[in-house]
Amino acid sequence: MQKKISISQIKSAVHEAYDLYKTNDTGKNADYIPYLANVDKGLFGISICLLNGEIIECGDSAYKFGIESVSKVHTAILILRQYGAQELLKKIGADATGLPFNSIFAILLENDHPSTPLVNAGAITACSMVKPIADSDGKWKAIVDNITELCGSAPQLIDELYKSESDTNFNNRSIAWLLKNYNRIYDDPDISLDLYTRQCSLGITANQLAICGATIANKGLNPVTRQQVFDAGFSPKITSLIATVGFYEHTGDWLYTSGIPAKTGVGGGVMGTFPGLFGIAAFAPPIDNAGNSVKAQLAIKHIVNKLGLSVFSGDQVTITE
Ligand code: GLN
Repeated sequence: MQKKISISQIKSAVHEAYDLYKTNDTGKNADYIPYLANVDKGLFGISICLLNGEIIECGDSAYKFGIESVSKVHTAILILRQYGAQELLKKIGADATGLPFNSIFAILLENDHPSTPLVNAGAITACSMVKPIADSDGKWKAIVDNITELCGSAPQLIDELYKSESDTNFNNRSIAWLLKNYNRIYDDPDISLDLYTRQCSLGITANQLAICGATIANKGLNPVTRQQVFDAGFSPKITSLIATVGFYEHTGDWLYTSGIPAKTGVGGGVMGTFPGLFGIAAFAPPIDNAGNSVKAQLAIKHIVNKLGLSVFSGDQVTITE
C-alpha cells in the first residue's frame, strides 16, 4: 500500500507522546552503576531526524546522558567498516541470546561464541577487534571518530560515569577473561574491557542518537552532515542485528508491539531506525527489569503506532510537507 504521512502529523505524534508520558514514574534508574542512580529521573526527551536532515524534538533532547549499550551499535558499525559483514559474523556472530545483556551463561550456551556485538560479550569482543590492534589510544580514537561521524557531532566522555563504571564492572571483567579463554578476544582483554567501559561512559544526546538512527535508515549517508559514513550494504546488516537483540530478552515483545528496530542502554536512551524514513531517539533514566527505559519505550511505541507504521507492513511510505 502507498502511504503518505505529513511532517505536522509527525510533530503532533511526538508532542502527544511527550505529554502522555511526561509524568509516568514507572521504572527505576539503573543502580548497579552508582553514577546512573543519581541522574535526575524526571528527564525526558524525544527526537526524530528525517532523511532530509530536519530534526523534530521535544523535552530534554539536548541533555547529555550516558550512551551505555546504545554504543554497541556504533562499534558494531565500526567493525563492519573495518572488517566487512562476513568477518563480523565469523568472529562475533549475529544471534540473539534471549538472555540478559550481561549474561555469562549465554557465552557458555553459545558454545564459546559471543553471539552478537549488541550484548556485553560481543561488544567487548568488538572492542578487541577495533583497529589499530595493540594501540589503545588509536583504538579509542577510531571508536570516538566513528561515533562522531554517525551522530554528526562528537560525544563527550562523562569522567564521573567512566570512573563509577570502571570501579564496579566486575561482571564484565569476568566476561572479558572468559572470552579470552575461548580465543574470542583479538587484542589484550584488559584494554578491550577498558575501551568498552569508556565507550559506554560517553555522553550523548537524543538528537545525536536520532541522527545516527537516521544515518542507518539512510543507507549510511548522514542526513545532517551529508557524509557517506559507511557502505550502503551495511545498513540492512546493522538493522538486522538491532531488530534481533535490541531489547535483549524483551526484543520480540518490543518488535511485535512497536514495529521498529531499536537499541537501548541502561542510561535511559533508546535509538530506533526506520529504514528509508527516519531515525528516532528517546531518553528517560528509569528502566525496567531488562534494562530498557520505560518512558522512552512508551514514547517511541506511541509515535510509530500513531503514524500507523511498521517495518513489517510492506507499505511504501512517503513523508510530505
Ligand atoms: N555499561 C553497561 C554494562 O556493561 C551497559 C549495559 C546496558 O546499557 N545494557 O553493564
